[in-house]
Amino acid sequence: MTNVADVCRYLESFAPAALAEDWDNVGLLMGDRQTSVSKVMTCLTVTSAVAEEAIAQNVNMVVTHHPIPFKGVKRISTDSPTGSVLWKLASNGIAIYSPHTAFDSARSGINQQLADGLGLSEVKPLRPFELDDGASLGGLGKGRRGDCPPVQLGALASTVAGFLQIAGLHIVGDPEMQVSRVGIGCGSAGEFIHSASRAGCQVLLTGEARFHTCLEAEAIGMAMILPGHYASERFALETLATQLTAEFPDVSVWASRQESDPLTWME
Ligand SMILES: [Zn+2]
Repeated sequence: MTNVADVCRYLESFAPAALAEDWDNVGLLMGDRQTSVSKVMTCLTVTSAVAEEAIAQNVNMVVTHHPIPFKGVKRISTDSPTGSVLWKLASNGIAIYSPHTAFDSARSGINQQLADGLGLSEVKPLRPFELDDGASLGGLGKGRRGDCPPVQLGALASTVAGFLQIAGLHIVGDPEMQVSRVGIGCGSAGEFIHSASRAGCQVLLTGEARFHTCLEAEAIGMAMILPGHYASERFALETLATQLTAEFPDVSVWASRQESDPLTWME
C-alpha cells in the first residue's frame, strides 16, 4: 500500500529540492512518512476552506504549492490562521508536502507547462542555474523564455487567457505591439523583467506585479501579461493531481474543489 514516503519520493524526483530557492521551505513539512495513503488532495494554498475539505474527505496528505508552515513557527494554536490550519490538519493526521519553487523550476514544472501551453519553441530557462565552475545545471533554471511566430501583444494575451481559462487579465504595453519572444515566471515574478530584457524577450508573462514594477517595465519597453497569481499557478496543481493518479493507481487524488481565487474580476 502507498504511504506518505512513497508520495514524497515521487514528488522529490519530479521537483527536486535542489531546484528550490534558498529562502523557500519545501518537502514534507508535516506528517509521518509511514502513514498509509488512500486519498491525496493538491491545492495552490492551504486555506481554512481547503483544510475543511481535506478533513471532510478523509484525506491523508495535502500537496500544496505554497508552503505551510513557510517561516519559523513558534506556536501552533488556533489563535492565528496559520496555527489553526496546522492544528486542524495535524489533529486529523493529515500530512503536508510543498514543492513550491522546486515545482516552478522543475523540468516539467509550472513555468515549462506555461511555455508548452502557449506553444513556444526553443524554450530555455530565463535564469539558468550555474554551478560554481560556471557550467549550467543540465539546462535547468528559473523561469522560462521561448519563441513564437510574431504576434500582437493583445492576441498573445488572449491565448494566455484561453489556456488559463480566465475571463480577463492585465497587460502592460501597446496591445498592437509585435512580440516573438516571451519570458515566463509563474506567481509573482515581476523582478524577471530585466532577465527577460537581456534574453531578448519583448514581453514577460507573470501572475502579478507591483505597480512600480509595471512602470519600470514600461520604461524599459518590456510588455507584461498579468493573469493573476492564482491563475498562473493553480492549473498546474490540477495537472499534478492527474500525474499522481497515474503514478499511484491505488490512491484517489484530486485538486481541491473548494479552493478559489480571492480576487474576482468585475466587468
Ligand atoms: Zn505562487
